[in-house]
Amino acid sequence: MANPYPQVYFGDRIVDAGEASVGVGSSAVLYGLSVYTVFPVHVDGSARTAFRLDDHFRRLEESCKIIGIDRFAAEWDFARFRPAVIDLIAANAPTEDVFVRATVHVVESIPGTRVRGCAIKVSIFVYDAMPIVPQDGMRLKSSPWRRIPDNAIPSRAKVNGAYVNSVLAKQDAIDSGYDDCVFLDGNGHVCELSAANIFLVRNGTLITPDVSCDILDGINRRTILTLAAEDGIPVVERTIDLTELYIADEVFVTGTSSGTSPVTEVDGRLIADGRPGPISQTLRKRHTAALRTDIHHGWVTRLF
Ligand code: PMP
Repeated sequence: MANPYPQVYFGDRIVDAGEASVGVGSSAVLYGLSVYTVFPVHVDGSARTAFRLDDHFRRLEESCKIIGIDRFAAEWDFARFRPAVIDLIAANAPTEDVFVRATVHVVESIPGTRVRGCAIKVSIFVYDAMPIVPQDGMRLKSSPWRRIPDNAIPSRAKVNGAYVNSVLAKQDAIDSGYDDCVFLDGNGHVCELSAANIFLVRNGTLITPDVSCDILDGINRRTILTLAAEDGIPVVERTIDLTELYIADEVFVTGTSSGTSPVTEVDGRLIADGRPGPISQTLRKRHTAALRTDIHHGWVTRLF
């Protein structure tokens, strides 16, 4: 099927998708040395809006800073990023909601593994906003693969190469008949899924691993924490044991490509009665609304 979104921002302009490529000898290809983010763009009549665009850009900057991709801060800022996204959306003219993936590639071909001062190229492309996990109740398997710790490849930075860890764990879960994995750290504490953050509800309190638990600091995780606090739901960020998931009243996940989606089973154990719980459903509705309508947070950016 023809690509419905054939225009790609690459380097400093919009090109046909076939022209946007990085070399086989680049560090991006050889070492997975790229960082990225994915954000949703909502179509509402003739208006196009992006969710938490500035936060996504900031996380891209932070990922570069952590990894040492210093050319990004030298060459890019939000004032350059925003019009690039607007041009891309205008060029592809989506008529349905889409996801946008923005990547900073280290394109220099150099012998050996280093990063500082290396040339970069930014690519931004659009694709269908299809959720990557079931939306009506997913089954998770705790992974035999451990989450990469902050002192190996930091999960806080969204580095392409690090996603081999996610691929191993997700494929193992799929091969075992599950929808996705739950990553644990070296001490057996819960981290996140292959590409989503995790929450549980116990006795009315919302609990999620804190940001020092080898997780990505998800934009939607932050969103849920804000919305829950506004709804008067007590929120705790702390380490979580795997067995706490088994006895939770509710479990759900968040992420751009996952939405806010309920978990109905972990390691063959039903979560409560195996149906999505009330707090998950309320927060899911609030999250869906927040993606579209900027009530008071300044989260929704009108592109045009
Ligand atoms: N954790 C990982 C490992 C991810 O890849 C993602 C998806 N970007 C998330 C969490 C959720 O992050 P966000 O809410 O920013 O999409």
